[in-house]
Amino acid sequence: MSRKVIITVAPTGSIPTRKDTPYLPIRTEEVAQETRRAYEAGAAVVHLHARNPDTGGPSSDIEVFRDYLAAIRSCCPIITQITTGGGATTLGLSPEERLKPVEELRPDSASLNAGSMNFGRKLFSNTPDIMEAFTRRMKELKVMPEFEVYDLSMIQNVDYWIRRTGILAPPYQFSCVMGVMGGIPPTFKNLLAMKESLSTGDSWQAIGIGRHQIPMVTMGVLLGGNVRVGFEDNVYLEKGVLAKSNAELVEKMGRIIRELGFEVATVEDAREIIPLLNRT
Ligand code: ZN
Repeated sequence: MSRKVIITVAPTGSIPTRKDTPYLPIRTEEVAQETRRAYEAGAAVVHLHARNPDTGGPSSDIEVFRDYLAAIRSCCPIITQITTGGGATTLGLSPEERLKPVEELRPDSASLNAGSMNFGRKLFSNTPDIMEAFTRRMKELKVMPEFEVYDLSMIQNVDYWIRRTGILAPPYQFSCVMGVMGGIPPTFKNLLAMKESLSTGDSWQAIGIGRHQIPMVTMGVLLGGNVRVGFEDNVYLEKGVLAKSNAELVEKMGRIIRELGFEVATVEDAREIIPLLNRT
């Protein structure tokens, strides 16, 4: 049987605006609808950032996250992941504020940024102390951390501060983020280097920013990884053509996965492929 590839959808992120695409979901019902459509198109995981329902800008409001999760859970069984980084650079959140939605709402998974960097023009601070504290707390809460690595050095950070110290038993889940300004450039050679730096037994997904989304995630599939698509990373279906929904990007990725001879993982498949998701 061919390998099953997990598609994560990231429907909003904290950066795109309605000026970038009029199809950006912001209000709870829009985010839930988009997530359900993406689930029906083959997404097994949703990665969420909160948006202020009035301004559309990024938000750290736990009640927004609470509403999103409730609405999503009532319309589809997709695996839920919430950010602990989004808005850190734009809203100036403290580490405690970044972790609070995870503490209160206990999604299946949460992102855990594995190092400090210049994220565009802003400092994105993720010191070893923050990484360790987030990992310990997520372990207690039985929320799976997904280590977001924006460069090779961040894979080393996870190995040095988390794996070596035994704070959390492996295997780990990684996102190799290709193409954030300040992170590793999105080239095939660099994605190969990222993949080869991961430890045997860990699982990972490729993320590509902007026009690099489909090339990077397609190479991720060929290298044995999973994929993330969605408006957080890219709003175009093809050159000059906006995707009308996140589901269109998921459908496109599903077609590519099947054309390459693989299968698209269901929610049940994803829970088998990433056993750490089942610790609750
Ligand atoms: Zn995110």
